Amino acid sequence: MTTEKMHREVVIIGTGPAGLTAAIYTARANLSPLVIDANDAERQLIPGGQLMITTEVENYPGFAGGIQGPELMEQFRQQALRFGTEILEANIERVDLSARPFKLYTREGHEVEAETLIIASGASAKWLGIPGEAKVPAGLGGNGVSACATCDGPLPAFRNKRLVVVGGGDTAMEEATFLTRYAARVYVVHRRGQLRASKIMQDKALHNPKIEFIWNTEVREILGTMEDGVTGVLLYNNKTDEESVFPCDGVFIAIGHKPNTELFKGQLEMDETGYLKTAGHSMATNVPGVFAAGDVQDSFYRQAVTAAGSGCMAAIDAERFLDSLPVPMPTGEEVTMEGEVVTADHKKIIMPDGEVVSNKVEAEVSAAD
Ligand code: NDP
Repeated sequence: MTTEKMHREVVIIGTGPAGLTAAIYTARANLSPLVIDANDAERQLIPGGQLMITTEVENYPGFAGGIQGPELMEQFRQQALRFGTEILEANIERVDLSARPFKLYTREGHEVEAETLIIASGASAKWLGIPGEAKVPAGLGGNGVSACATCDGPLPAFRNKRLVVVGGGDTAMEEATFLTRYAARVYVVHRRGQLRASKIMQDKALHNPKIEFIWNTEVREILGTMEDGVTGVLLYNNKTDEESVFPCDGVFIAIGHKPNTELFKGQLEMDETGYLKTAGHSMATNVPGVFAAGDVQDSFYRQAVTAAGSGCMAAIDAERFLDSLPVPMPTGEEVTMEGEVVTADHKKIIMPDGEVVSNKVEAEVSAAD
C-alpha cells in the first residue's frame, strides 16, 4: 500500500458536535483543519456521532421547533466545510504523541502529521446486543428504544407511558428519575439484586413513587412492530430461571458509556473508566498541543451543546498554542509551543533549556527593587 503523507497545523478526530465545532472555529482562524473520522458500524463509530442515532433534538439552542439529530449534524458539517475544513474518512490505527508533530497512521495508508491535535472521538452508549434493539429498520432503535433519556424522554411517544430502564448504575438511576417527569410509570430492570449506583442516586430512585424495580432480571428481547413501536420486553429472571413478557411502550438502555480512547492508552492520562483528563481551565490533556473535547473527556454532562462548547474551547486553545501563547495544563502550569513553562503560581517561567526567569513584567520588577 502506498503511504499518503499529510502535515497540518490542526488535526481533529471526530465529526460529532465537539469535533465539527472545533473545525468551524479553527477553519475560520485560517488554520485549514483536517478532520478525520471513520465509518465503522461494527465499533458503533459513525460520522456525526451519537446524534446520528437520535431522532428529534429538542434541547439544542437555536432550533425553537426542534431538529432531527442527523439533520443537525449535517448543518454542523456544512458549516465546517464552508470555511475550508477538509474531512478525511479513514480509520486511525495508531497514534504517536511522543513528539511534535504528532503522527497518526490510518488503516487506509495515510501518515498524518499534526502540530496540534484535538481529540473529539466521543463515547458510545453500551448496548445489550439483544433482538429488537438495533436501529430502525433492523430493530426498534429510534422507534421506542433509546440510550438517552435526556434526548428522547420528553418526546410525545413516551409521555404517560410505561417505560423500562435497563441498568443498575448512576446512569440508570438518573435516567429513571428523569423519565418520571413524563412517564406514567418507570420500571428499572436490573440483572442483580443490588444496585451499583451511588447511595444518593439509589435513594432518589428507590423513594420515587413512580419507579418500580424488577430485580435479578435480564432483558432478552425487545418486542414490537414498526407500526406500533415497542409493545413489551421479554424478561428472564435469573433466580427463578423463568421467562415472561412484560408489556411496556419504551425501553431505555442505561448500562453505561464507553469513551473512544483505545488509541491513546499509555500516551494520554485517563480516569479509571478511560475518559481523557483535561485541565479544567482549558481543554489541554497532559501532552502539550493535544486537546480533547466532547464526550471523550466528559462522563458527566454528555450533551450536544456542552460538547459543541468544549469543541469551541479546544479550538481556541489550539489557536493560542499555535500563536505561542501559554495554555493551562492539568497540572496548573501553563506551557507554550516553544516549551516554556509558566509555574502554577504564575511567578516563574522555566525556559526550554532549564533556565528559570521571573514572570514579573520589568516595571514591576524595578518597582519592587
Ligand atoms: P456503571 O458501569 O456504573 O453501571 C452500569 C450498570 O449497567 C451496572 O448496574 C451493570 O450491572 C449494568 N450492566 C452493564 N452491562 C450490562 C449488561 N450487559 N446487561 C445488563 N446490565 C448491565 O455505568 P454508569 O453509566 O451508570 O456510570 C458510569 C460512571 O458515571 C460512574 O462512575 C457513575 O458514578 C458516573 N455517573 C454519574 C452520574 C451522576 O452523578 N449524576 C450520572 C451518570 C453516571 P452490574 O451492577 O451487575 O454490573
